[in-house]
Amino acid sequence: MLGDNSLVEKTTNLVNQLSAQHELLLGHCTSKAQLTATQEHILMLLASAHPEGLTNSEIAATLDLTAAAVTKALKKLSTNTLVQSKRDTDDSRRVVFRLAQAGEPIAAEHSAHHKKTLSAFVSLVQEFDPSEQVIITRYLTRLMEVIQS
Ligand code: ZN
Ligand code: ZN
Repeated sequence: MLGDNSLVEKTTNLVNQLSAQHELLLGHCTSKAQLTATQEHILMLLASAHPEGLTNSEIAATLDLTAAAVTKALKKLSTNTLVQSKRDTDDSRRVVFRLAQAGEPIAAEHSAHHKKTLSAFVSLVQEFDPSEQVIITRYLTRLMEVIQS
């Protein structure tokens, strides 16, 4: 039933889009890992990525971050042994990063934090009646066009 609601869908899209670059999260991080939200987000991405791993530039493209920002984050994650890097045997310039076992609980916590944030926005939608939701949906549609332009 929730899936049929276009305001829920719009809210989800908007929050996902803002989250990708700005880590729009409600409540506190409970991982105690002393990482930035971006560093945790990279762990979450690696947890759901192909087991082969991802390169620096693949992570940067997916999260819409600069390669330099990803390099910095991966350095910290490697130092804390939360990710493992491996040089491609066929192409020595290609280095892939994979989630290390120690990073798994942090990736799971970060994913749960995103889900919790999203469900808070989704339940907010339920406070408005259908005719109000139509207007808010129109507003969000325009807002996203403005953000993307
Ligand atoms: Zn966290
Ligand atoms: Zn995140």
